[in-house]
Amino acid sequence: MEGLKEYTLLKFRAALFDLLAREEEATDITELIDEMLLILCETMGFSGIALISRNYRANQYVVEQCTDRSIHLDNILVSLEETLQSVEGDPLDSDILCTDFQHQHAYIISLETKAKPTYLYIISKEETSTYSLSWWKEIQVECSKFLNRLYHQEHRAHQEQRYEQLYQVTNKFHSSMNMSDILYQIIHTLETVYPHFTYFLLLSHDINNPHNLPIKHLHYEGDQFDENAMKAYVSGKVQIHSEVSHSMLNAPLIGKQGIYGVLQVRAAGKVNMPEDEIKFISLLGITAGSALENAQLYQQSKRVIEDLKLINETSHQLNSNLRLADTIHYMSTQITSFFNASAVGFVLFSQNRKSKVLPGSTSFFFTPGIYQYVDFIYEKFLVEHDALFINDATLQMSYKDLPFCSIMAVPMIQNERVTGAAIVLHEKPYFFSFDNFKLLQSLIHHSTLAFTNSMLREELEKLVVTDHLTKLFSRGYLDDKIKDSMVQDPYGTFILVDIDNFKRINDTYGHQIGDQVIIQIANIIKSNIRAKDIGARWGGEELALYLPSVSLEAGILIGNRLLQKVREQTNPKTTISCGVSFWKNEAEDPDTAQQLFHRADKALYQAKNQGKNQLVVQKSRV
Ligand code: GH3
Ligand code: MG
Ligand code: MG
Repeated sequence: MEGLKEYTLLKFRAALFDLLAREEEATDITELIDEMLLILCETMGFSGIALISRNYRANQYVVEQCTDRSIHLDNILVSLEETLQSVEGDPLDSDILCTDFQHQHAYIISLETKAKPTYLYIISKEETSTYSLSWWKEIQVECSKFLNRLYHQEHRAHQEQRYEQLYQVTNKFHSSMNMSDILYQIIHTLETVYPHFTYFLLLSHDINNPHNLPIKHLHYEGDQFDENAMKAYVSGKVQIHSEVSHSMLNAPLIGKQGIYGVLQVRAAGKVNMPEDEIKFISLLGITAGSALENAQLYQQSKRVIEDLKLINETSHQLNSNLRLADTIHYMSTQITSFFNASAVGFVLFSQNRKSKVLPGSTSFFFTPGIYQYVDFIYEKFLVEHDALFINDATLQMSYKDLPFCSIMAVPMIQNERVTGAAIVLHEKPYFFSFDNFKLLQSLIHHSTLAFTNSMLREELEKLVVTDHLTKLFSRGYLDDKIKDSMVQDPYGTFILVDIDNFKRINDTYGHQIGDQVIIQIANIIKSNIRAKDIGARWGGEELALYLPSVSLEAGILIGNRLLQKVREQTNPKTTISCGVSFWKNEAEDPDTAQQLFHRADKALYQAKNQGKNQLVVQKSRV
């Protein structure tokens, strides 16, 4: 009998040896295990064998394979668990246990496999006593060796496949410069490799999330503070935490310049994750970290290039001698489009606290609503001497119904004095980013000098064309404008004005009062003409008006009204005489400014001769 058992053992060994020879071509190790169980069953004459293992993820026993399909697997599991529990703590050869299974004998052999706890559950008609302990040991050793070998092979193939996946995903990472795509790849790879777990990304920065990834913000304190995640983030090392209800692994996303967040892997129940899985996930974290870093650096450099382009383009435009209104308009347009702003404007502060909105600002700046913002910003500048970045104005400003909640305001500083502000607004709170704010500061810093230059130049130009005493235009400017008008317009009227008996006024009241009279008459002229008409000081006590595209009849009316107003409104009472001339566009015989002046002069001479305080028209051109 003993000899027969020895013989069957030999036969079993030989059959396993044959099986191993087929290992190379086998695609699935379950096939080989199945055969091993069948061979054992047949050679030893057992009724059935089940291979059972303990699954650490699910935390339970699982029947992996069974030779007899008619056996109810749950019953086997119940029997196994009961038997194992009954001997728990008893070291006395619990390697091989005996029990009953549905009126047959059952033997539980614990196999010495490294990958996971594994058992053979053998059902036999024969009694225990027919098999010696040493015989069982032999079976145990042979089966363990065989399985270990297969498991080892499978593990290697599995590892190979996983590193292949890591390689693939790394390639994808480095071909993408988009942060959210990279994060998607991480989660997607993990879900493919370990579908049992749930994943979260805890990031230190805000990020667009078009793939709807399970992204959370990494909290430094408060309710959502996660100690383990924070530990991983701060130390740069994988943190494992496991308790009865759940287990967690936190792998930092590490780049060369910093840590970008934490990859959190969660499992239900207490799970002991094997070393190589921990290694794989932490490697994925490192790969993803450096890919994220690359993408971030790429996006940053792209943004910096865009910013520099904007500054460069703007400076270039500003230096090309634009008019102030054009400069402001250009800046407002640039800022509106670059920051998606709703309102952009430039405001000058003056000592008497009256602010002036510069032309070229967007339309809101010319409504009364702007003053609540300007006053608020001015007050803030006085106290803080710094640019303003306000995410929600309703929290700071006492006004109700504020149309704009996001404010960026940058002072324009000239000779260390705040002369004005660039103000950028949007309806929504938290609309502008801090990067927007920094860029705006840089833009304004670069453009204030250009604004100041434009303003100074325009003031200077005004000075050149303005008569100092009367603030009417100068003679030269009048000449130029008449010449321009004679090219552009169809006709125009010219009125030359001379104060009557002015010498007497000077002699009676003194030169200063004389000057006042000239100023009074100049003011009457200014308040009685349109913006495009030109009032000028012709010289001494002679003044002039040029009315482009005004007919002679209308010109005479204006002249007579002037005569009347001077009579009524001057103090001391003064009168004037007017000489009027007119030109019309005639192709065959073009008129000249010189002739126009000459005719008005002749008319004026006549008005003086006819008794002054009157208007004479010189119609004829000869
Ligand atoms: P008429 O009615 O013929 O024009 O007599 P009139 O006295 O106004 O003419 P006249 O040309 O003899 O004298 C002009 C005076 O105006 C001479 C000059 O001293 C004075 N005058 C010229 N420019 C100024 C000025 O800017 N301020 C003052 N106060 N006087 C001026
Ligand atoms: Mg005169
Ligand atoms: Mg005079």
